[in-house]
Amino acid sequence: MFKFFVTILLLQATFFVFSQKIIAEKEILKLMGCRFEITATAKDKKAAQKAIEVGIAEIQRIENLISEWDSATQTSAINKMAGIAPVKVDKELFDLIYRCNKISGLTQGAFDISFASMDKIWNFDKNEHDMPDNIVVKEAAKHINWEKIILNAQNNTVFLQEKGMKIGFGAIGKGYSANKAKVEMQKIPGVLGGIVNASGDLLTWGVSNNPSGWSIQIADPKNINKPLAWLQLNNISIVTSGDYEKYFSNNGKRYSHIINPKTGYPITDIKSVTIICPDAELSDALATSICVLGVSQGIELINKLNEVECLIVDANDKIHTSDKLQLNYYK
Ligand code: ADP
Ligand code: MG
Repeated sequence: MFKFFVTILLLQATFFVFSQKIIAEKEILKLMGCRFEITATAKDKKAAQKAIEVGIAEIQRIENLISEWDSATQTSAINKMAGIAPVKVDKELFDLIYRCNKISGLTQGAFDISFASMDKIWNFDKNEHDMPDNIVVKEAAKHINWEKIILNAQNNTVFLQEKGMKIGFGAIGKGYSANKAKVEMQKIPGVLGGIVNASGDLLTWGVSNNPSGWSIQIADPKNINKPLAWLQLNNISIVTSGDYEKYFSNNGKRYSHIINPKTGYPITDIKSVTIICPDAELSDALATSICVLGVSQGIELINKLNEVECLIVDANDKIHTSDKLQLNYYK
């Protein structure tokens, strides 16, 4: 079990393909401030270990590019120069920000990496806190506006137009790094499959123990110990966002670490959103976005997208799913 309401259990592994034994190697470690579990399958132990090694190195490399906490990263340089001057960055970071802005457009601003201007206002440490002054929140929220993240593709510069603006990749970084780790792991000769599991956000590919793919169980929000449904996940990601890990409480209400960019306030009326789609980066970004958009707007958006499905647990533990989500329910 990794997540709260939508708990994911990977079924245990003994690997066989064409009657030949496939071994699975796994490493658990902290990366990007969260628990990663990286698994690779191969016929030869060394290949699986090598794949894990390159996967970890790739995630560390990305962390050094996108972290807004580490003052040495290019992301921090962009933040420091907010309202002052454009900053030239690697094409990789430029492209990531470009895609973030595309997702902001797709979600009508529900997803916005410039939410980070709020990070001094809220403290999601699971404790009880007083609410900050509404004027202070409104003032900081003025700096959230993805349309003021100015990208110049000719020289790969990024400019935050206003002083006080700040960007952060908390809602997309794990998904992006899972995608990239997979690409590097697949390059290792002999590697047959794998999973990148970032605190319950999964990306699976290739050969697993089960002939029809990696199998995942989804817990019932009303009874965490009893799975509600299961699904086969091959070459796909499943990502959950919600109020279970990072939040604070005030007056009996739980405030999640996901901020509504329009108000600057954390969301309160959704417990979790799970997105299932082949691209882990998109799953990650959309899971956060749908938390902001809410049940009806969220499902409407997901139903318009190809190969993207979702499951939402609302504040009353009611489950809502997109039209084409196929779960195998336990009787
Ligand atoms: P988790 O890290 O628990 O998987 P998410 O993927 O939903 O959850 O990411 C939440 C993080 O995203 C927050 O901690 C914050 O860093 C960032 N964030 C919060 N609100 C937004 C938003 N509206 N748009 C983009 N990023 C956000
Ligand atoms: Mg996310």
